[in-house]
Amino acid sequence: MITGKTKIVGIMGWPVRHSLSPLIQNAAFAALELDYTYVPLPIQSDQLAQAVAGLKAMGFVGANVTIPHKVNIIPYLDELDVSAQLAGAVNTIVITAGRSIGYNTDVQGFIQSLTTKNITIKGKTAVIMGAGGAARAVVCGLIAEGIDHILIGSRNEIKAQNFAQLFSEGGKVQGCNWHGECFIDGLNQCDILVNCTPVGMSSNQEVEFPINWQAVNPQTVVCDLIYTPPLTQFLAGAQSHGHMVINGVGMLVEQGALAFELWTGESAPRNVMCAQITKNI
Ligand code: NAP
Repeated sequence: MITGKTKIVGIMGWPVRHSLSPLIQNAAFAALELDYTYVPLPIQSDQLAQAVAGLKAMGFVGANVTIPHKVNIIPYLDELDVSAQLAGAVNTIVITAGRSIGYNTDVQGFIQSLTTKNITIKGKTAVIMGAGGAARAVVCGLIAEGIDHILIGSRNEIKAQNFAQLFSEGGKVQGCNWHGECFIDGLNQCDILVNCTPVGMSSNQEVEFPINWQAVNPQTVVCDLIYTPPLTQFLAGAQSHGHMVINGVGMLVEQGALAFELWTGESAPRNVMCAQITKNI
């Protein structure tokens, strides 16, 4: 029951209708009998400053940040944790003593979704599709785990190259247009291939990726950050060519669990969170 003492958390995005986070977080609060509630906060891109001020003014204890605000929210926050500084993107805000602090739990969430499946990252090669906020978290996590090389493929070559510049130290990250030769070479050699675009989401299924599965290294583990549908066309294509596939469910649970722990200080009930997702996708 919501009372005058209930602590409020929300998810800022545009749109947020598709988000499972309210179901997952509210189930987790209920499981631990915590007096918290989690609400959807549909916020347009030109309203971010007002939205952050509003969170503080209305006594929210924090929020998640989702597509398309993860990068653009940064100037409106008072402080960034090292996870958000490294990724250059924020998916979780904690509000404490009137200050908003940005974190990035996607980084650890993604890595956890690979390590629980015993995927080796150190010394390997990855191809990432997309150059947005989630891609930053993925790249950051892979670098921290000792990946050898990352190729960023995007529909916009300039964005891919600018993205690569952000992680230019050590020359590990390169960017290219995903229709180019360089991308085909990358696919041929990579150990891990990750879709970090929304292409393939239930609401966004009309675009097809430029992937010729015959040209992909047969040993490549193929990941999609998308979790609705649980098997995107991209993953289905990979699976039909014999690749191990990993969808976005594991990352969703782990990034949400880490955010829950930041807001409440309690250990998150990951099994409850996972069950909610499985029931609702
Ligand atoms: P974002 O910051 O908006 O970036 C999206 C990226 O995808 C950009 O590079 C964008 O290219 C590209 N893109 C968008 N629409 C495209 C299209 N029709 N064709 C080709 N490229 C397109 O979004 P994000 O926050 O990184 O999120 C990306 C995806 O990851 C979303 O589906 C999100 O739900 C998912 N995600 C899942 C989890 C999880 O826990 N499982 C966590 C985080 C994110 P342009 O820059 O050219 O527009």
